Amino acid sequence: MTFRITPYESVLNEDIQQGDKNAEAFKKVKKDWVEFSPIPLNRLKLVTFSYVDFNGKQHQNGQCVVMDAVAPRVLQIFKELYKRQFPIHQAKRIEFFEGDDDKSMNANNSSSYNARTVTGASSNLSMHAYGLAIDINPVQNPFHSFENDAAEKQGIRHTKPAAGSNQYINRRRAQNDKLPGLAEDIIDIFDKNGFNTWGGDWNDSIDWQHFQTSRALANLLSVMSLQDAEIFFEMHAETPALMRDFPAKETVLIELYQENPEKFMAIFVTNPNLFSMFDSALAIRSIKEEWKKTT
Ligand SMILES: [Zn+2]
Repeated sequence: MTFRITPYESVLNEDIQQGDKNAEAFKKVKKDWVEFSPIPLNRLKLVTFSYVDFNGKQHQNGQCVVMDAVAPRVLQIFKELYKRQFPIHQAKRIEFFEGDDDKSMNANNSSSYNARTVTGASSNLSMHAYGLAIDINPVQNPFHSFENDAAEKQGIRHTKPAAGSNQYINRRRAQNDKLPGLAEDIIDIFDKNGFNTWGGDWNDSIDWQHFQTSRALANLLSVMSLQDAEIFFEMHAETPALMRDFPAKETVLIELYQENPEKFMAIFVTNPNLFSMFDSALAIRSIKEEWKKTT
């Protein structure tokens, strides 16, 4: 069995230097990412893992690229999926698909880091761009959007990938039929390891393949040092309410952290409950009060 965490940027550079058939495409993808990514490439880790496919065959080369601070938990997720013998069709890095999510989905590829915008949106950065989102078996767990009729006439698909549109849209029936590879079977594993937002719970564009952290948490983790981000994410995995209800555009915590990281972490470690309050406005007021009291 193979379960390991390695730096990602060096793997990408080695592949580019080897000059194989993918090298040119990788070089272009890397250039786009360096310009576009909300985090530097050296903050990403490659998680390599064993998995079983839909024929019960074992593979040792599953690959998932995520933000460094969450890599130990992601390794744990794939260990638990393997233990449960949850089938995965394949898991290759997105650069093998030129960073093109549609190509990756059509190949029923489970993927993670990709410096791209939200599917169907032109500006909003996806959680995949932070290395804080993981997609599992897109065919069994498609993306479904509610386009209008005009869009449909232009050929815009409601369901991606197309292969997922037949038997996997009626989720209750898919579960009753015990179809293998459904995201519903593994929500608990992602949830207890800090990825507690599931795209299957969304109303406007449902994304059954997609697991992520909250956006407010992602923005904070991406400005933190690795050490602080690890402490923060570990607490988040243990306390799912941590920052869950904070609005995505919340910037106060980022400003406080950048002003004084040591003070921020000291307040966090002594008062983690302040960061888990349901009322985020009250939470931020309380954190600011604590900030004034602390020297
Ligand atoms: Zn996704």
